[in-house]
Amino acid sequence: MKKVVIIGAGPAGLFAAYKLAGKCDVTVLDKGLSVEKRSCPSPDNCTNTCALCAKLYGEGGAGLMSDGKIIFSTEIGSFLNDVEGIGVKKNSQLVEEVKAIFGKYGIHPVVENVDTEQHKKELEKAAAMAGIRYVHTTLAHVGTDKLRDLIQHFRNDLAEKGVKFIEKQDVTEIHHESGKITVKTKDNSFECDNLLIAPGRVGAKWLEGVVRKLGMQFQYNPMDIGVRVEVKRQITEKVTNVCRDMKFQIPTDTYKDMVRTFCTCPGGKVARETHSEGYNLVNGHSEAGDPYENTNFAFLVTIPFTEPMANGNEYARRIAETVRELGGNKPIVQRLGDLRAGHRSKRKHIASYIVKPSLDDATFGDIGLALPHRIVLALTEGLKKLDKIMPGINNDDTLLYAPEAKFHALRIKNSDPYLQTSVKGIYVAGDGAGMSRGIVGAAACGVLAAEGILAEAHGLPSHSSEGMLKEE
Ligand SMILES: Cc1cc2nc3c(=O)[nH]c(=O)nc-3n(C[C@H](O)[C@H](O)[C@H](O)COP(=O)(O)OP(=O)(O)OC[C@H]3O[C@@H](n4cnc5c(N)ncnc54)[C@H](O)[C@@H]3O)c2cc1C
Repeated sequence: MKKVVIIGAGPAGLFAAYKLAGKCDVTVLDKGLSVEKRSCPSPDNCTNTCALCAKLYGEGGAGLMSDGKIIFSTEIGSFLNDVEGIGVKKNSQLVEEVKAIFGKYGIHPVVENVDTEQHKKELEKAAAMAGIRYVHTTLAHVGTDKLRDLIQHFRNDLAEKGVKFIEKQDVTEIHHESGKITVKTKDNSFECDNLLIAPGRVGAKWLEGVVRKLGMQFQYNPMDIGVRVEVKRQITEKVTNVCRDMKFQIPTDTYKDMVRTFCTCPGGKVARETHSEGYNLVNGHSEAGDPYENTNFAFLVTIPFTEPMANGNEYARRIAETVRELGGNKPIVQRLGDLRAGHRSKRKHIASYIVKPSLDDATFGDIGLALPHRIVLALTEGLKKLDKIMPGINNDDTLLYAPEAKFHALRIKNSDPYLQTSVKGIYVAGDGAGMSRGIVGAAACGVLAAEGILAEAHGLPSHSSEGMLKEE
């Protein structure tokens, strides 16, 4: 049986293992802990002292303690539509396959009715009139509190089919010599015929080193940085009742940048992410039943970078570090009215706030000092336009938390339509490889890479890497 090692037990690694289980000898290595052991010692007040953040590392990946919005879309959550040799048709098949696998675990998209259809049309019209693009998606909402059981069930089924899961395996080195692939951690060494690298965003920086060392081809993804917006849930309800995770793409007037909304958490809470590289980010989650009074969503500006600083991630990272310093090692929260008036927000005024911050572990400060002018302008212009669809979103009382950023990592170039890299036998998948930015997108990448490994194993034709690279 062919030996396959998978680095990363997030959605990309788990769905690849699902596809390979029973057909190959599969070992999944993860730097973090098993799903049962993952627990944050201080979920509401991060002390930033854990050697490895339990929220981000370990079986289930970054999504384990997430909201569990499972978004079945080819347009949102992955770049597979744009990847050479894949495209919309193949991506649709992959998303359908991921949907079917989730279905086996009782996770189904919300059924839309005639009313939804009518509201969807109205929303599309309102968005068009405001100069905004609305992307409708179907999704299932698992809820933070149920996701752990789902992943445990999924992992147990794979283990029963012979997949080996090894926790606390921080892969430091990958060697590829004379067609032999060796993966090294501090204490162990694993040889394999195929390697799938799926380390998520938390592993993106490490993967960058691997890519350069092995001479893999890559390109940079655009930078994505901004804030998380929090408002009273009534303000977004009309829209989130039609599409729970509202996706608007808003071109801005001054610089013609693109601001987008995503990761909407109706009745949810803002969350803090602590990264070992020395910065904090914000995110959001909501439990099943949406029990809280506010809604939050990500509001990010996308800017592609070119030479000489083509790596927009580096730029975003530095901004995140500045915010950390200004916020005293915490994210910054500010009322929109204070941002517009040019002064910081202060905790002592909280009693008068209409929107009470759901994240306590943030410093009341001034986002205007933390984010570059162009980003702040794009965000305020974007909120102004969004107010035409959701009146009240541009109120002074709206809260903004910084920084929210998505580090997409390098997009590693594929040498065949299965996400094989330019190094034979080594595949990449998921957020860390710059291929996805969501659970379904990452899972779809995992399924695709596994298809490639199986195609090789059974001697089926796969595109020669040489051929693909020549076309580029
Ligand atoms: C708070 C939060 C909320 C989110 N909510 C949603 C949501 O509702 N819906 C949605 O679609 N997406 C959501 N996301 C995004 C989603 O979780 C990710 O897009 C998805 O998990 C990416 O999957 P992945 O397999 O590529 O990587 P990950 O899930 O990040 O998994 C990568 C794994 O690799 C391991 N690893 C990293 N480096 C190494 C190494 N060197 N050696 C060994 N192991 C390594 C890590 O420990 C990790 O377990 C959320 C993310 C966060 C942080």
